[in-house]
Amino acid sequence: MKRSRPLKRKTKRSEPKRQDTEGVDLRSIDDDPVVQGILTAISQKRLKPGAKLGEDKLAAAFGTTRIHIRQALAHLASRKVVMQIPNRGAFVYRPSWEEAQDIFAARRIIETATVAAAIDRLDRSGKAELKAHMELEAQHDRNDRWASLSLTAEFHILVAKLGGNRVLLDMSRELMLRTSLAIATFEQPGEPDCSPDAHPDIGALILARDKAGAIDAMRHHLEEMEQRIRPQQDKDEVDELTAIFREIGARARAAG
Ligand SMILES: [Zn+2]
Repeated sequence: MKRSRPLKRKTKRSEPKRQDTEGVDLRSIDDDPVVQGILTAISQKRLKPGAKLGEDKLAAAFGTTRIHIRQALAHLASRKVVMQIPNRGAFVYRPSWEEAQDIFAARRIIETATVAAAIDRLDRSGKAELKAHMELEAQHDRNDRWASLSLTAEFHILVAKLGGNRVLLDMSRELMLRTSLAIATFEQPGEPDCSPDAHPDIGALILARDKAGAIDAMRHHLEEMEQRIRPQQDKDEVDELTAIFREIGARARAAG
């Protein structure tokens, strides 16, 4: 019975300390424009796995300080979107082949759950939101590749949102980003994550409250996506990796 009070006070007491001198509020770092900008660029595949994220260039691009950039990069590293290498800086995260497979395995579990929950909770406003999104995808000019890449990711996030579980929604957001990194690493860059024809089917099955059908369609969609990635990396990617780790490798040899 007494539990809620101290917890509340503790939160209140610690929060003001999190405001740092650069004006970055760590409680809302996910909404930070630098964090959001980098996440968008990754989900749109403009920033590719292994790409260097130079603090000076980012500070200039966002019109902010290096300290602010460093905090944003540290946060993104904690979310497995950025990798930080001592003395080399920050890079867009490049998942291993095993990790790429784990990402798809996790999506199969999470998204069969979110699609079922979306059907259970589907109400008038949820239906309208889903229909509006499907309309957007259908009407979208496929030549506008960047926007279309974001739209297909948003379909999956919308399904999770309609499911009403915030934890699953957060996990879905993270998995969408990690999927983009996995596909960009193990498939041709610039390709969309989703096959464009799958969403109308899944959407229609959700609207028809056909739970078994929708789960099946989602599972099939994810399987198709996973089949497009291959363990072999092409030469360019290997060269890029070589460049990233050259200095570290040399140092490791020197130290040993
Ligand atoms: Zn999709």
